[in-house]
Amino acid sequence: MEYPGNLFVVAAPSGAGKSSLVKALMELDSRVVPSVSHTTRAPRGQELHGREYYFVSKETFDQMVIQGAFLEWALVHGNRYGTSKMAIEQRINQGADVVLEIDFQGAIQVKRIFPNAVLIFILPPSWEELRSRLERRAEDTAEVIELRLQNAATEMAHAKEFDFVIINELFERALFDLKAIVHAQRLKFSAQRIARGDTFQALNIL
Ligand code: 5GP
Repeated sequence: MEYPGNLFVVAAPSGAGKSSLVKALMELDSRVVPSVSHTTRAPRGQELHGREYYFVSKETFDQMVIQGAFLEWALVHGNRYGTSKMAIEQRINQGADVVLEIDFQGAIQVKRIFPNAVLIFILPPSWEELRSRLERRAEDTAEVIELRLQNAATEMAHAKEFDFVIINELFERALFDLKAIVHAQRLKFSAQRIARGDTFQALNIL
């Protein structure tokens, strides 16, 4: 099934800069919209229900799983996270480019259901840099940082299952790469035929 919008799935180990890159992309390009996931974890800091996540109980989450409400869901660091199917389909049907910031397990599930989804993996330039970014963030204890580094190894082992890889060494360069992927996707024949239907018709291109 072809939709006028695209589905971009971005995954990365924590500390690679995924959220900052996606945020910067959305600020530059209003056609790119986020998807708000459901999670069973508690809100952190300034997080708001309906903005960062829909914070739900385990019971509600389980019910949604049974009802088939999720396009994908996964257990990440002991909490459940899921992407609502309806919200995504509605938006890409309306021509929006939806970005999912999810873990590798979710990304692979999405690709099975939406083979046209574009999977993008963000890598740090080195282990040393990843460690120093996690330390500079000063959000976590030394043990949590070690755990995040171990999880990073598992996550990065799946980079080969993705369509594109961006190495986030220089932020501006990585943002340029991300914009290039989004732009190229919009130039595909199938996308142009929908977006520029009049031109195609006038040129007799079927
Ligand atoms: P955090 O709790 O730090 O916001 O997110 C933890 C991890 O869960 C991140 O790797 C994030 O990408 C992932 N995540 C967030 N939402 C979803 C989702 O809907 N599905 C999946 N599979 N992973 C998610």
